[in-house]
Amino acid sequence: MTVGPSAREGIILGMNRIYLDYAATTPMRPEVVDAMEPFFNDSFGNPSSIHTYGQQAKAALDNARDIIANGIGADSSEVTFTSGGTEADNLALIGVMMANRDKGNHLITTQIEHDAILNSAKFLELIGMRATYLPVDKYGQVSAQQVAEAIEPDTVLVSVMHANNEVGTIQPIEAISAVTKEKGVLLHTDCVQTFGQLPVNVDRLGADLISLSSHKIYGPKGIGALYIRNGVSIQPVLHGGGQERAKRSGTENVPAIVGFGEAARILFNVRESESKRLTTLRDLIRFEIERRIPNVKLNGHPTDRLPNNVNYSFAGVEGQALLLNLDLAGIAASSGSACSAGSVEPSHVLKALNLPDFYIRSALRLSLGRLTREADISEVLEVLEKTCERLRLLAGSSLSAV
Ligand code: PLP
Repeated sequence: MTVGPSAREGIILGMNRIYLDYAATTPMRPEVVDAMEPFFNDSFGNPSSIHTYGQQAKAALDNARDIIANGIGADSSEVTFTSGGTEADNLALIGVMMANRDKGNHLITTQIEHDAILNSAKFLELIGMRATYLPVDKYGQVSAQQVAEAIEPDTVLVSVMHANNEVGTIQPIEAISAVTKEKGVLLHTDCVQTFGQLPVNVDRLGADLISLSSHKIYGPKGIGALYIRNGVSIQPVLHGGGQERAKRSGTENVPAIVGFGEAARILFNVRESESKRLTTLRDLIRFEIERRIPNVKLNGHPTDRLPNNVNYSFAGVEGQALLLNLDLAGIAASSGSACSAGSVEPSHVLKALNLPDFYIRSALRLSLGRLTREADISEVLEVLEKTCERLRLLAGSSLSAV
């Protein structure tokens, strides 16, 4: 059984199950639920109203915005709440490209971005803009030099994720921002996966736009934010009453924003120590997988990777069968990104790493989080070892053939 720090968290997660899919989403902290609760009831006001109800809601909104802005080294006026990471990515790409048409119509991104970026880029191509999708190396990294070489006179924006959600590879954003600054091009980075694990500071990263999502940091789903550096022109994607300084219309989801703020407040207190703890557990899993299971391959960068990400391919094992068997044993993991779960399409990230098909089909992502304990890891390793052996036997896989 997963031993959590509080009984309530144990109940939230369900008994006798081990959750290793924190990159997909995280359980809400009880403190977060408690912080949100009044805003469903007594303090239900619309933050745009001038009466006391409205002003209470507005104060809560401002407080959450201040917490998040302080935590990333931004000014509060630079944080725009959105309905999540997906909307933040859409607003960054579509909003910046639409607002800067006088400067050009070319966008640069990478082949391993989240679909929220890739599909926004495709949409921009549909309406006549140009997009370059940079390839990555075998570890999933793109270099600052590649970015420099791809910049053209009409390039407006570069969008490179801080770390990849499937394989955990961290990108050299600081080096990339040195290039974009020198060339006078804007830089967006999707920090949805890193915000919960690594310091995200707007000036250190040197980014002009940063996407965040609450449900990856133990906050509620359906809320996120886009950091937009003061002075960056952006065209709204949602049109209406002009909320969020006219950057994102729609009555604000006050309970969710309060929950996001509270989750961020807790995060800033525990992130450093948690990341250290998870790095140790991550490296233990890596060591044990490689020691116990033959014919495995680590996906992603060996060192420049998220503290909580383990991604391996198990040659000769069908990834979907592995996932189902783990689930039957009470272990929740992922074969790729949850956002494309249910789809049997091979992962575009693993394809971009140029992996052979048998590695792509046998990939498993374990992502760790605040309730992961060493005892869970021992259990998972045992189940994993036995399951791989059984599935390989069943598949009659001749390992010498791969
Ligand atoms: N970007 C990355 C890197 C993600 O991992 C995700 C979610 O998995 C998103 C964006 C989308 O965020 P949300 O689920 O808040 O829309």
